[in-house]
Amino acid sequence: MMGTPLTVVDLIERAEKYFPKKEVISRTHTRTECLTYEQIGKRTRSLSSALASLGVKKGDRVGTLAWNHHRHLEVYFAAPSMGAVLHTINIRLSAEHLIYIINHAEDKVLLIDADLLPLVESVKDQLNTVETFIVMSDEKAVPESSIEGLLSYEQIVADGDETYQFARDIEEEDAAGMCYTSATTGKPKGVVYSHRGIVLHSTALSMADTAAISESDSVMPVVPMFHVNAWGMPFVATMLGATQVLPGPRMTPQIIAEMMDKYDVTISAGVPTIWLGLLQELNKGTYDTSSLRAILCGGSAAPKFMIKAFESDFNIPFMHAYGMTETTPLVTLARLKSYQVDLPEEERLEIRSRQGQVVPGLEIKVVKDNGEEVEADGEEMGELLVRGPWIADEYYKDDRTKDAFKDGWLYTGDVVTIDEEGSIKIVDRMGDLIKSGGEWISSVDLENALMAHPAVFEAAVVSVPDPKWQERPVGCVVFKEGKEASEDELKTFLASQFAKWWVPDQVLFMDELPKTSVGKFLKRDLREKIKEQLL
Ligand code: AMP
Repeated sequence: MMGTPLTVVDLIERAEKYFPKKEVISRTHTRTECLTYEQIGKRTRSLSSALASLGVKKGDRVGTLAWNHHRHLEVYFAAPSMGAVLHTINIRLSAEHLIYIINHAEDKVLLIDADLLPLVESVKDQLNTVETFIVMSDEKAVPESSIEGLLSYEQIVADGDETYQFARDIEEEDAAGMCYTSATTGKPKGVVYSHRGIVLHSTALSMADTAAISESDSVMPVVPMFHVNAWGMPFVATMLGATQVLPGPRMTPQIIAEMMDKYDVTISAGVPTIWLGLLQELNKGTYDTSSLRAILCGGSAAPKFMIKAFESDFNIPFMHAYGMTETTPLVTLARLKSYQVDLPEEERLEIRSRQGQVVPGLEIKVVKDNGEEVEADGEEMGELLVRGPWIADEYYKDDRTKDAFKDGWLYTGDVVTIDEEGSIKIVDRMGDLIKSGGEWISSVDLENALMAHPAVFEAAVVSVPDPKWQERPVGCVVFKEGKEASEDELKTFLASQFAKWWVPDQVLFMDELPKTSVGKFLKRDLREKIKEQLL
């Protein structure tokens, strides 16, 4: 067979050539814009030409600090299509981490949303490699800034060459993108995505047995474009010429619901905290969400009650998937097999709330400490290992590579069980599992049960040291607006579902739970926070 390379260039050129009339709807800082793929293609070429005249060469890193909008989408294609590397930077990082990753990645250019300029202004003197700063706003004018020589995105695109020819010397193994993942301790770790990995991952997302993304979809990535490339949504949607609805800066559940309604969104993707917020909004308002065929949920476990609420109250089908920054990210997805569709509702819900089966193209195994595989009985726990063409094989210039990548496998650090259908269930992150009296307790199961209580908005469960049992679970709960429940009521609620020794000894009430920069519960901070309350 021919060994033609799989590159990101093919994705944008396909959209330009076959779907020039299809649209990208983009909420920006001041308005909502609608651009065709023909326009996006020309603007992307102009941007590539501008980057080239700024001295960006093959392999150089082009950093972005931006929300989900069409300009960010253009950089997604302009940088890799000229041989450079798109480096999406998490806008919620601490100044220390921001400086670290920009220097570590050696970004040559930074493209920054106008409202995020202060982030960069405060650290600019400590950035060692950045030569050009470009501000992305709706105007050509450059806003007031302490950054010397700041360029305007709209100006360089207007001055660029919209007929610029994308690079033809790209090998499929070349780097197309990179993203840093926050480690539990220490500095963030960089993951580099190859052109090949991104293209194969896009194909995986469009299979009928996965997310089945197609040209007829209207795709809305709520997950930030700096979190694992918005889970690959912008790449697959462009490849297929699907409509894209980009919800823009500082979106709220109300904005998401309004855009879903107005632009007939068919599939959206995000973490459970986003969907918990949307659920409250849908309960308040009168939105037409009948166009939605799937909400893709991952990043943390999707609570069963949430899946049920979306499906039975709003007729919005849920799709639970699992992945990591290191895996581009799709690894597993929960779908019913054809012989499972007639099972009783509770059993179907149980299957669909698991993280599901590995998608075609990847391999997984679940191993015990001694390296042997666990029984596929849904009971025995082990660490999940993954390998395949869109799984990273190292951290970028980082010694921690040797801890996670061994014998050709990625050690995910996720503790799972696997059942006889090959469906995995995440029990916990390795450090979050609670060992009480020699027995394991899953914080994830307790959290999901607590969040099903009508008064509870969010819940996290962490372990605290215990003189008798080594560790005991403590529940931390945020109530829904105007709702409350007593500690005893919540414990009784859990006691009806779990063995007695699983029920947390204490449930603490909080105004909010600490979260990571991508909306997951930050258990490390929570453990610190509750230390004081428990004394
Ligand atoms: P990140 O690299 O920030 O996307 O985080 C990856 C981690 O998120 C995984 O290693 C899991 O611990 C967790 N995760 C991702 N998807 C799920 C899911 N569907 N259920 C439970 N945990 C998940």
